[in-house]
Amino acid sequence: MAVLRCPTCGSESPATSQRFECACGGLFDVEHALRPLETKLFDARRLRAHPPLDSGVWRFRELVYHRFPRQAIVSLHEGNTPLYASPEVGDWAGVDDLHLKHEGLNPTGSFKDRGMTVAVSRARASNAGWVACASTGNTASSMAAYAAAAGLNAMVVVPEAATAVGKLSQAIAYGARAVQIRGDFDAAMGIVRDLARRGEVYLLNSLNPFRIEGQKSIVLELIQQLGWKPPDWIVFPAGNLGNCAAFGKALREARARELIRSTPRLAAVQAAGANPFASAFRDGFRELRPVRARTIASAIRVGAPVSYARAVQAILDTDGVVTDVEDDEILEAKAVVDAAGIGAEPASCAAVAGVRRLVSEGHVQPWDRVVCVLTGHLLKDPETTLAYHRGDLGEVPHANPPVVVDADGEAVRELLRDD
Ligand SMILES: *Cc1c(COP(=O)(O)O)cnc(C)c1O
Ligand SMILES: [Zn+2]
Repeated sequence: MAVLRCPTCGSESPATSQRFECACGGLFDVEHALRPLETKLFDARRLRAHPPLDSGVWRFRELVYHRFPRQAIVSLHEGNTPLYASPEVGDWAGVDDLHLKHEGLNPTGSFKDRGMTVAVSRARASNAGWVACASTGNTASSMAAYAAAAGLNAMVVVPEAATAVGKLSQAIAYGARAVQIRGDFDAAMGIVRDLARRGEVYLLNSLNPFRIEGQKSIVLELIQQLGWKPPDWIVFPAGNLGNCAAFGKALREARARELIRSTPRLAAVQAAGANPFASAFRDGFRELRPVRARTIASAIRVGAPVSYARAVQAILDTDGVVTDVEDDEILEAKAVVDAAGIGAEPASCAAVAGVRRLVSEGHVQPWDRVVCVLTGHLLKDPETTLAYHRGDLGEVPHANPPVVVDADGEAVRELLRDD
């Protein structure tokens, strides 16, 4: 059976505990027995499995939440997202062999669903009254949907300015009580952490270790899709650092359980205006200096990431790197990803911009096999997409503004002659 263990001091707590912060200040991780597993088990389930084991998260149940009762699982059939080979995007980024793992094609449009199915299942089994999270938007959407499916009361706390319209509208549509604070994500995080410490809510941010367990399946699934041959690099956007922590843990455990023989290198990409992890990396991880976060990529607008310590471990374990990119690089990468017919929200495209940056810095080689994780759907943030193409963000390289003409067939025909 799984237990919670603090990686800092080693103290243990039962899996049913609702306290995720150790007395020493560390964050509890879920620990499993590390017996070897065979890839065959997961391949068989990929071909034929019944709910909930047909989910791209619960297919890996031995690695995610061993022996959690099947009938207690709250699943919306998350995961099983496509891994696209994309030569066009690879061309732009400077690598021959680029794959895009599109986590925006989850039930609520972001990877957050993978962690939420596990943590909401745990919350319901613990008879939580209220579940809550602070969010830049996607955690709120995802939690609201899973709480609705589980019949739990949900409160989401989001920054009033700058929560993308797709995300806020989802959260209220799924029935969560949505609280918009006059403050930023880090302030929202402080408020819900405090409610959780008082025992008033069950916390569903990524400091909840069951979120991390579910998010491990992103890496497990993409490696399975590559026939269990790990790529050279896995590149992803980094905000609160839950994914970075989850990916490191997934790779550590997959090695220990003999599912893979080599470890891909992790590359975490931040926005230059919200880059405390990248700054710490450049400084040899001596310390985390929180910043006041500013970037158009609202999903990674986080100045004081909560999973910092376990994310550092993930980068060290995998010989990984952390970099940052400017907003105009993020927007250009987004225009390229969108125009390839794939499409993603701004934060997701920071990963693609990061690949180009890492190639130019000589970390990633042009012949390396690279998988970028696209974390959220194009439709999450339509305002930014329109602003870019209409020229509201200044002169941009790939603008494709809509054309307004009279309701006249000849005027429309004229436009076919342009290219
Ligand atoms: C949450 C989120 C991120 C950041 O992930 P962390 O685990 O907080 O680092 C990146 N992109 C999107 C679209 C997100 O929703
Ligand atoms: Zn501890």
